[in-house]
Parts: sequence; structure tokens; C-alpha cells
Amino acid sequence: MERKVEQSRHTLVLAEKPEAARRIAEALDQKGKAARLDMRGVPYFRAENNGRTIVVVPALGHLYTVAQERGRRDYYPVFNYRWVPKYVENGRDKQVRTFIEAIDELSRGASERINACDYDIEGSTIGYTILKYACGEKERDAKRMRFSTLMDQEIQDAYRSLSPSLDLNLVEAGLTRHEVDWLWGVNLSRALMLAAKHWSGRYATLSTGRVQGPTLNFLVEREKEIRSFVPTPFWNLNAKAEIGDALYDVAYENEKIPKRDLASKILEETSGKDGTIEDIQVKSYHQAPPTPFDLGSLQSDAYRHFGYTPSRTLNIAERLYLSAFISYPRTSSQKLPPAIGYADILRSLGKRKEYKDLVEIVLSKRDLKPQEGKKDDPAHPAIYPTGNAPQTALSPPEEKLLDLITKRFFAVFGDTALRQSMRVVIKVNGHTFYLSGRRILKEGWLKLYQPYAKEDEVVLPTLEIGQRIPLRQVAIEDKFVQPPPRYNPSSVLRLMEEEGIGTKATRASIVDTLYDRGYVRDERMVVTDLGFTVTETLERNSPRIVSVKFTRELEEKMEKIETGSELRENVLAEAIGRLKPILEELRSRETSIGQTLSEAIRRAQLEKRIIGPCPRCRTGNLIIIYSRKSGKRFAGCTNFRNGTCQAAFPLPQHLYGVKPARRSCKVCQWPMVEVKPKEKRPWNLCLNPDCPSKAKYRRNEG
Ligand SMILES: [Zn+2]
Ligand SMILES: [Zn+2]
Repeated sequence: MERKVEQSRHTLVLAEKPEAARRIAEALDQKGKAARLDMRGVPYFRAENNGRTIVVVPALGHLYTVAQERGRRDYYPVFNYRWVPKYVENGRDKQVRTFIEAIDELSRGASERINACDYDIEGSTIGYTILKYACGEKERDAKRMRFSTLMDQEIQDAYRSLSPSLDLNLVEAGLTRHEVDWLWGVNLSRALMLAAKHWSGRYATLSTGRVQGPTLNFLVEREKEIRSFVPTPFWNLNAKAEIGDALYDVAYENEKIPKRDLASKILEETSGKDGTIEDIQVKSYHQAPPTPFDLGSLQSDAYRHFGYTPSRTLNIAERLYLSAFISYPRTSSQKLPPAIGYADILRSLGKRKEYKDLVEIVLSKRDLKPQEGKKDDPAHPAIYPTGNAPQTALSPPEEKLLDLITKRFFAVFGDTALRQSMRVVIKVNGHTFYLSGRRILKEGWLKLYQPYAKEDEVVLPTLEIGQRIPLRQVAIEDKFVQPPPRYNPSSVLRLMEEEGIGTKATRASIVDTLYDRGYVRDERMVVTDLGFTVTETLERNSPRIVSVKFTRELEEKMEKIETGSELRENVLAEAIGRLKPILEELRSRETSIGQTLSEAIRRAQLEKRIIGPCPRCRTGNLIIIYSRKSGKRFAGCTNFRNGTCQAAFPLPQHLYGVKPARRSCKVCQWPMVEVKPKEKRPWNLCLNPDCPSKAKYRRNEG
């Protein structure tokens, strides 16, 4: 095979992703148009800069991973590991091999090597492992390029002010994190899986980890609170005040009346009566502009406004970053340094007609000073729009997220808003009712952050003390004290952040893993029986695995490596030292752990097949059954086994995914299944062959 090797003594620049490589090459080329080349399918770019050839080659994120050094995969503890190409550990990562080969080849003629991967611990680790393993120990004299946006100017500046060496503290911190997480993940997960396998003879995927264990434990604790919650009833009074021609909601002084009798008595004493205004309390308060987005607050706002999960938001934000529409999103900073050039960005954004008026408001201010938060990040500022205008249409989610980030950028420069709240005290026959009003006196930043800032105004007419107010529509409402709410993917991420576990780069994927393993389900996260059992088994046998304190302490030590105040060797030795006794505890109780987990796995597998109660016998459950004879699937009753119920209904065959819909038919109350054709939206199918909804459908068809 012909080997095409770069001839000249060029500079090799390593980028984290292909799109980043293209932008870097175009920014560094003196004519602004780098040549796109190809080596065995790997795209790379050649730029000319002041007589020097620069070859920019992309990675695909991490190309190397931690793996067991030698030995079988069916035992623990394992403490011997090394960094290997990802395809060695996982045969599916075939593309990684061609990338490593291409980088190796392009590195050979180079006289200078630069890591230009994202500037954070992951990017530093990606570049380091590639320079060390793919380029043959070239990490020692490699340089580091640092930037927060993929804008031409910033890339050119970064190239002119290269760091003469790799950022070794970040590299050490990154290597340590991956190694510690591997040690914990592999050993604990193997302990669980092998315990279950030795008991049942079957293999099932179970996992826990340094961050995953405590995170699931938070959810389990909340689930226990919810399940043990005893709902106490209370009553409250709804009423309206008639002022002029309009009716306004008023609230009774006691929002939780403990006895029905008491509520009825108050109703009797106030219904249809006239009240008198006894007091009018007016309060004004300032509302400061929001702080710029760090990743956590962007994820939480995108969830609130658009319903995007944290991992989805991170994906969209990364695409916007690679297209140079926003700055680097994996940041924990809530600060915007003047060096980013506020006015230039605003003027660029103002060229889009939907932002023109808002930009004028911001630019008319005498000095531009952003409201900043406390959190900082040594590597990047908060997330901000670069001002680059999309040349082609963005996807709707990209468009939405970019709009949110842009408006937030405007809002942080806005004036403090002034709001006023008003509470009118109305006395009716010895009882007190409150009428509340809310007004915005000075809009300030609220105007810049629409529709994302609430402007819920209730403007009251002019009122005076002593005024007579008739009470209308007084009614009693039955209520129950609510249990604490379930976590959702966004609030659990905030909790992890508050508790100091995981990193901004990893938290979202840990939440995804909880779903993938079947430990939780639904958007309002419900812990499954399997999730409960895994956590309780760990807690009973080795409470430190699910202890947040234990994880946080290790987390703090790892953070210290980033600043050079802790050594990687110490942290690794400590992690292993903490892990060893835990693994011994788990091994000594392998039989009972294996039994508990195996039973939970069996229940989980059955639960996945249960569609709902059998409408024929009303004692069994309909489950999804695969016929051994025909290979076809159908819904059959669990009472078939004891011969008391023959109920069986056809299900759509292969080409469709079928699972329990977890709801019953609105028309006939029979259980339903969710049917999902490949690459299409799922729909719900009622199992009742005589369901009236189907008859209607058939008539329409005929
Ligand atoms: Zn039945
Ligand atoms: Zn039906």
C-alpha cells in the first residue's frame, strides 16, 4: 500500500473533533482556506502560515482508555491497568484505529506538535494520551493552545501565544480521574455481576460506580420518603372578591384548615357576606439581572423552558460550539471578562433583525458591565454567544438553545428590575382574606429576557382602607399534604453539583446510565425494584459505596491535583486503599448478595413484560410471551400456567418494538402496549379485540 507521508518539517496541531480541526486550520491559514485532505478516510487539513506548513488533524474525543493490563475478566479485585487504544478494549470502536494510524503517520515528519483539544481536563487528557501513545512519547516537548471559542481571531491569538508545554496538572488530574473511576467501576460492578452469576448461573449487566452509587442512593432515599409518606387531608377555602365588574382570587388566612367541620363553619360565616378592607400593604423590591450561564445553569434552564435532558442540552451546546456560535460550554464559570469584547459581540448580534431592538437597549448603556456570579473556572469564561450568524438554518433545538443563550447574554447587562407586591387585608365577619397584586414598576433586564423571565402581573384597581368588598363564590376544596417531589434529570444534576460529586463533563452521562441500567424510569424519576435492591444490597454490605461523604472526599483530592497541590500517586494509592476492604466485605457475603440481586433481576425481567391485569380472569396479569413453537409473540395470561385462564391476544410481530404502555385504554379500560416501528414515533395499542375505539376505526376505513 502506498504510504503518503507529509514531506516538509511541519507543525502538527491536534484538535478534539473534525469540525474543530477545520475551523482551526481555516483560522490559521493566511488565506483563510485550508486544504482538506484525507488519509484512509480520516479528514485532516493543511494550512500555510508565515512560510510554515501547519497540519491540523482531529481526534474523535478520547482515542485511548483505561483497561485491565492482563488476566481474565471474570474476577476481582483488579488493580493492574494501562492505557490502551479504545478499539483494543471495545471492538466496536473501529474508527479509532484509523484515526490513531493517521495521526501516527502525520506526526512522523513534524518538527513541532501542539495540543489544541478543548481546554479542560478531558481535552488535556485526550491530547496527552495521543501524543504519548500514538505519536511515540512526544508529549514531553509538545505545546498547548488555549481558547474558549472557535472564532478566527481567538484561534490566531492562541496560536501566537502558545504555552511551551502541555498543562501537566490538568493532564495528571484527568488521568487520575479516569483511573480512579475505572478501578471503582470495574471492581464494584464485577463484584455485583459475579455474585449474581455465581448464584443464578446467568449473566446480567449490573453496575455501580464512585459517583453512580451515591447518586442512585439520593434517589432511593427520596423514593422511600415518598412511599412512606402518609397523606394527611386538609381543607382550604376558595373565594373571589368583587371589585367593580371584575372578580379577583382571594386566599383565606389559614391555607390548611385541619378539620372539615371547621371549614364548613367558616364557609357559612363568610359566604355571600361583605368584607371591609382593613389594611393595604405595599412592598417594592429590586430584582437583579441573572448571572451568565455556566453549564449547570444552562442545563437547568433548558430543561425548564424546553424539557431537554441535561445530556441533550450538552450535545446541542457542543454542536453550537463547534459551529462557533457559542463559547465553550463545559465551563463552571459565571463570569464574563471584558476581553471577550462585549460591544463587538452585541453589534454582531444586532445584525439579526429579531435582536436589533434589544441590542440597541443594551448598547445605549453608558458602561457595559455584566452581572456576574460567584463561580469561576480557570480555563473558560461563562457561556456566551460569539455573534456569528448562522449561514444556514439551524435545527429547531439548536435555534432554541442559541436564542436562550443570546437573550441571557443581553439580560446580564440589563438594569435591575423593580417589582411591587401588594397585599390587601379583607376582614369578613371576623375572618381574614388576602388579595394579592403584583406589578412591574421598572422592567430593566426582564425586557431583554423574554419569553424566559416571568412577568406574571396581577394589577389591582385603586383601593382604599375601609372600602366594602363583597365576597363571591366561596367554596371548600378537599386537599392532601403532598409528599416531597420526585427528582427529574435536571434537579438530580443540580443535586450532584451541590453535593460536590462528579464533574460537569460526566454528570449528565451518569444520569443516563441510571436509566440504561433500569435503575430508574420516567421523567419524574421513579426508582425501580432493581434500583432499590442494588442500592440496599450495597448499603447493607458496604455502606461506604453509596456514601456521598466518601465520594466527595476523593473528589476534593482529585481537584487538588489540578492546582498542583496533590499528587496523582497519593490519590491513586488512597483510592485503592479504600477500595480493598470494601471488596473484601462484598466477597465475604457473595452468596447472600448474589441471591438478592438474582431475584431482583428476575423480577425486573418479568416486570418489563407485564402489560397489565388480565381483563378475563381479573386475577392474573397479561404478559408478553414468545412462543417457542412459532417464534411469534403474543400477550398471554400468567394464570395459563395453573390452567385457570386461557386469555391470549395477538401482538405486532418483528419490525415493531413492543412494550407495556403502563396505561389502560381510555375507551374500554383494557391494558395497552406501546408499539414502535423502526425510526418512527410509537403509538399505543389496546389489546381488546372488540374495543369500541377499533370498531370506529374499522368503520372509517371501510
Ligand atoms: Zn387471565
Ligand atoms: Zn380499548
